[in-house]
Amino acid sequence: MSSYYCPVCKAKLVVDNNLVLAVKSERNEKGIIFLNPEIGNYDISTNPEFEIEEGKKYQFYCPACHVELNDKEKEDLVKVFMTEDGKDYEVYFSNLAGEKATYKVDKRDKNALIAGINKARYEKYFELDDKYKKYL
Ligand SMILES: [Zn+2]
Repeated sequence: MSSYYCPVCKAKLVVDNNLVLAVKSERNEKGIIFLNPEIGNYDISTNPEFEIEEGKKYQFYCPACHVELNDKEKEDLVKVFMTEDGKDYEVYFSNLAGEKATYKVDKRDKNALIAGINKARYEKYFELDDKYKKYL
């Protein structure tokens, strides 16, 4: 069982098997997005009146403390924390709607699980020896 949480306020972000985040579009439209917490599953849902536009960049926020979750150094990636089976991970995913790239990095030993058809795009951010990488 995995548990996602905000890197800043530590609020638990999963409700009813949805990773719940607040987002803002380039046109300043704000909404709530439900992401599938399973690594490599890119199902999303939103309120029907809040439409996610493919290929557009979104700013992500913690719904509890409103801190920006878009990473300051890894451009176009969003970062949340996660624990699973007693291990702590950083999970990164693309802020572009429709892009499929996820990086689950073990905070201690730096092993990474990398998923999604667009995964090659951001691998440069993770200076990992090949032996530390696994692909989903
Ligand atoms: Zn927070």
